[in-house]
Amino acid sequence: MTNEQIMSWLERIADVLHENAQYLTQLDSPIGDADHGINMDRGFTAIRAKFLDMATMDIASRLKTVGMTLVSTVGGASGPLYGTAFLRAATAASGKQELAPADLVAMLDAFLGGIVARGKAQPGEKTMVDALTPAVSSAKEALAQGKDTAEITARAAAAAEEGMKATIPMQATKGRASYLGERSIGHQDPGATSSWLIVRSLSEACTSTPRP
Ligand code: ADP
Ligand code: MG
Repeated sequence: MTNEQIMSWLERIADVLHENAQYLTQLDSPIGDADHGINMDRGFTAIRAKFLDMATMDIASRLKTVGMTLVSTVGGASGPLYGTAFLRAATAASGKQELAPADLVAMLDAFLGGIVARGKAQPGEKTMVDALTPAVSSAKEALAQGKDTAEITARAAAAAEEGMKATIPMQATKGRASYLGERSIGHQDPGATSSWLIVRSLSEACTSTPRP
């Protein structure tokens, strides 16, 4: 994955979160406080305003800028969680001008590690972790099979989507949704949904041909 593809990934996230802001907020309405889409769109709108400054940055600096901006602009739980994820991803990519398949998987693993370190959620608690854990497992499996970055990220995106759907029957035991107890059952988790969109954007960035 090239630095240009990293930029394309970030642009795609900003676009897809903006397009899905209302959808993510709707998902956060029955089991939260109806702000997840607003939170994510606010964060990535602030990041979009930095795209010009980011043009000359290396991979790690770009990811670090994203992480710091999310931490400072998003008030909800998702800001510090995704902020830490991007900061950990930056550290994993430190000094690299391009990400080989193993580097990309290490970056994704660090991304999930940041969310787990910050939020302490285990799989099955109806959070972002439920989309990202299978995504990272599938990526590791594809890497072990010698697959390229396009295939690795495509499988990660498919696994994230499955993981997201699997949050519907779960009862939330972390975050705001946990206040609802059993009433959280039957609703798709908003954070798992934004995580799927982020991993799907990664897959798209890895399969796109560079712009002329
Ligand atoms: P808030 O809950 O503060 O309103 P958001 O609505 O932006 O923040 O984000 C809610 C999402 O955050 C949830 O759908 C869930 O996926 C995720 N989340 C909440 N707490 C945790 C946690 N401890 N670990 C991982 N993810 C969490
Ligand atoms: Mg919320």
